[in-house]
Amino acid sequence: MSGYFKEIYDGGKSLLVGMGITFRYMVQPVVTLQYPHETVPMTPRFRGHIDLACDQAGNHKCIVCGTCQRNCPSGCISLKGEKPEGAKKKLLIAYQLDFTKCSLCGTCVESCPTDALIFSKNYNLAGLSGQEFILDLLKRQEERSK
Ligand code: SF4
Ligand code: SF4
Repeated sequence: MSGYFKEIYDGGKSLLVGMGITFRYMVQPVVTLQYPHETVPMTPRFRGHIDLACDQAGNHKCIVCGTCQRNCPSGCISLKGEKPEGAKKKLLIAYQLDFTKCSLCGTCVESCPTDALIFSKNYNLAGLSGQEFILDLLKRQEERSK
């Protein structure tokens, strides 16, 4: 008979402990997010794929020197510049990143002489084919500066 009451006691105690934990979490601030409708801001040191940085006027800072392309150990950068008639400098007309090959080593960002490259905070990448990870960084930069 004493075993019977002990089981009731243990069951009641376990129920109260469980309810106590539930109540404690119920009154704490919510820490979960309704992903993908809500997203967390990434930490300053987070490395997403590279992006072209914008200056204060919203223009990119690339001088089409090709250093990033030459130094990338994975060969994932391809860029193109063109010199318009009468202009002294080349203008960037295409900057493509094959993110499927990128190891996020940072060599391109560190070697750029004009600080034209940054790591994006884009962690929200998903796709059905590798093609979706070939990124047009010039287009992305133009959209950001609008
Ligand atoms: S190293 Fe910098 S300036 Fe040179 S091509 Fe790359 S992004 Fe442009
Ligand atoms: S982070 Fe490294 S691997 Fe990725 S594009 Fe830059 S140099 Fe290439």
